[in-house]
Amino acid sequence: MQYSFWEKDFLEKPADITILGSGIVGLSTAISIKKRAPHCNILVLERGTHPFGASTRNAGFACFGSVSELLEDIRVMGEEACMEVVSMRYQGLKTLRQRLGDATIDYRSCGGMEVFRMKDKESSEQCQGATPFCNQLIKSALGLDNCYNVVKNTSLPSFGAQAIFQNFEGTLHPLKMMHALQKLAVSSGVRIEYGIQVDEIDQANRSLLCANQLQIGYNKLIVCTNGFSRRLLPELEVVPARNQVLITQPLPQNPLVSGYHLDKGFVYFREVAGRILIGGGRNLDPEGEMTDQFGETEQIRNYLLKILDEIYPGASTKIELSWSGILGVGPSKFPIVEWVDDHIIAGVRMGGMGVAIGSHLGEMLADQVTR
Ligand SMILES: Cc1cc2nc3c(=O)[nH]c(=O)nc-3n(C[C@H](O)[C@H](O)[C@H](O)COP(=O)(O)OP(=O)(O)OC[C@H]3O[C@@H](n4cnc5c(N)ncnc54)[C@H](O)[C@@H]3O)c2cc1C
Repeated sequence: MQYSFWEKDFLEKPADITILGSGIVGLSTAISIKKRAPHCNILVLERGTHPFGASTRNAGFACFGSVSELLEDIRVMGEEACMEVVSMRYQGLKTLRQRLGDATIDYRSCGGMEVFRMKDKESSEQCQGATPFCNQLIKSALGLDNCYNVVKNTSLPSFGAQAIFQNFEGTLHPLKMMHALQKLAVSSGVRIEYGIQVDEIDQANRSLLCANQLQIGYNKLIVCTNGFSRRLLPELEVVPARNQVLITQPLPQNPLVSGYHLDKGFVYFREVAGRILIGGGRNLDPEGEMTDQFGETEQIRNYLLKILDEIYPGASTKIELSWSGILGVGPSKFPIVEWVDDHIIAGVRMGGMGVAIGSHLGEMLADQVTR
């Protein structure tokens, strides 16, 4: 396709701030900047006809970490960094809910349950034993009392008899969330251009080289492309990770009452309008799933189907839909907010919890560019 003179004339002019990517981070950043600098001219560029990465394709858990995740993150990142990330997730969720309203995004304050396989008795006991310690950490970081409670698992007989219930989690509808963010951004005066694929950042000429010979200038550029970022900025320590998801038809007597976590958060499942949604399992094939290509594999699908039958016998024959999304991970769960040069800042690597941390990252990026 050849752009017209009018299109090129309008699209190629640099805005005050250009944001690349219209996922939760890109749009939250635009909204946060507008709050600080209402007259700032902001342009969001998105390759898809709507956000096309993770923000509309995720599982809709509004969570900040199960006990096994916390213990693993402390092991990898240390206690201080781990709790800083947990705080960011918590603050992000607060901002998101205040900004959009619970009813708009179908937020349900249902709590979250960490369950364990029968064979993972050791891990289950370790997590149960660590619950008071984790509660103390959460109390000092977030001021919340009795976050995690060891409870009897009465609804899922194929899993271990003890589970850990998290009081402060919820679930939401990701597309309703993204629609509301988009509406808020546009009504604040943010311009969003869809269908613009940026192929290269020409740092020397401050220009974005796009398909069909479009070259969009920029003054300040904020890169919010998460799992796709290394194609544009290979120096960033973020790699893509695909996550596959399945959802069943509505099932009678669905036993799920909240969001559920298994295997240090690698597998997650929840109830959605009488259905069961299950996703994850990338730990089964870490190399193969380190990709920014959407797609599904037999290996992971079969793995998720097997767990699904453990949750609800026969549910594997009732699949209504399956899909995948791409998230951004790295050696640490700490998100990257980093100036690449004097004009470009990146806000990437949500570590698989961007629904939670995304709005907070938007605030951090807005602080950086409006200083
Ligand atoms: C299956 C799945 C389940 C998940 N479940 C949860 C959950 O329950 N709770 C939770 O907190 N998190 C969850 N996550 C993670 C969460 O969805 C992400 O962390 C979050 O959406 C990342 O937001 P983002 O804005 O950084 O990136 P994205 O939403 O990926 O947005 C990046 C945008 O950049 C655009 N883009 C990329 N490259 C270019 C280019 N070259 N030119 C133009 N545009 C470009 C993409 O099209 C995309 O719209 C899940 C993720 C997946 C994949």
